[in-house]
Amino acid sequence: MTKDIATPKRTQEILKKHGFRFKKSLGQNFLIDPNVLTNIVNAASVTKESGIIEIGPGIGALTEQSARQAGKVLAFEIDQRLLPILKETMAPYPHVEVINEDVLKADLHTFINSHFEEGQDLAVVANLPYYVTTPILMKLLEEKLPVRVMVVMMQTEVAERISAKPGSKAYGSLSIAAQYYAHAETVFQVPRTVFMPQPNVDSSILRLTRREKPPVDVVNEALFFHIVRGAFVQRRKTLLNNLSKLFEDTLSKGETAERLQEIGIDGKRRAETLTMTEFAALTSAFYRYTG
Ligand code: SAM
Repeated sequence: MTKDIATPKRTQEILKKHGFRFKKSLGQNFLIDPNVLTNIVNAASVTKESGIIEIGPGIGALTEQSARQAGKVLAFEIDQRLLPILKETMAPYPHVEVINEDVLKADLHTFINSHFEEGQDLAVVANLPYYVTTPILMKLLEEKLPVRVMVVMMQTEVAERISAKPGSKAYGSLSIAAQYYAHAETVFQVPRTVFMPQPNVDSSILRLTRREKPPVDVVNEALFFHIVRGAFVQRRKTLLNNLSKLFEDTLSKGETAERLQEIGIDGKRRAETLTMTEFAALTSAFYRYTG
C-alpha cells in the first residue's frame, strides 16, 4: 500500500513542493488524520463494486481512502491549482477521475450517466467546503440523484440542524428539507485539530441515507417547501403570523386562520413545534386556495 497522503508530514511536503497556499474563500481545510478518513469512508459501506462521488478532493486525502475501498471515484474540484497536485498524488489510483468544475454548476446526472454503470451502487463521500455546505447538500438531494448514501463532513452546528427533531432549537426548514429526502444521522464528531489549517469550529460526519419515498405524502412539493420556508421566516412569530404574511396576496388573515382551524392546528404554535406530517396537512389545506 502507498504511503497515506493525510499524515501531517506528507501533507506539508506536498504543499511545500507545489508552493500551495490555502484559499480561505474556498473553505480549504484539509484533513491530516488517516484514521478519521478511513472511518468516514467506512460509514458509507461501499464495496469494490461501488462508485464514489467526492466534492472537493483538495490534495486527495479522502479521495485516496475512497479509492482503496471503491471501484471508481469521481471527484469535483473547483480550484485549478490543485489539479497538478492531484495528478501526482492520485497517480497510484487510475480509477480516480478529477473534474475541474464547481459542483454547484455541474450537471451531475450527465456525469453520473457517463462515468458509472447503470444501477451501480453510488455514494457521496466528502469533506464539504463550509461556505457552501447547505447549497451543495440541497442540490444533491433535490436533484434526486441515484445515490444510496451521502457521508459528509460539515460544521457540527449545520449537522445538528439537518438531523434535528421537532421541538428542538436546531429544528428548521433545513431539517425538514433534508429529512424529506433522506434519513439523517450524525455518525461521529471530528475535532478541529485534525485539519490543516485548523478551522474555528468543530465538525461532524453526517450520514444521509436516501429514502425510497418521502416519509409523508405531499399534495404539491413546491407548495410544501414554500410553506415550510415561510413558516420559519420569523422563528419567534406564531405560525398564523408567518403564514398570513406568506399568503397575504391571496388570503386574508382570517381566511388563513380558518385553514389552520380546519385541520386542527393551533395558529399560536411556532413552526419549530410542527412535525413533517403537520406541514403536509398544511399543504393540503392551502392547496385549494393558492394556485
Ligand atoms: N477533501 C479534502 C480533505 O478532506 O482534506 C479537502 C476538503 S476542503 C474542506 C474543501 C475542498 O472543496 C477544497 O479542496 C476546495 O477547493 C473545494 N471546493 C470549494 N468549493 C467548491 C465547489 N463549489 N465545487 C467543488 N469543489 C469546491
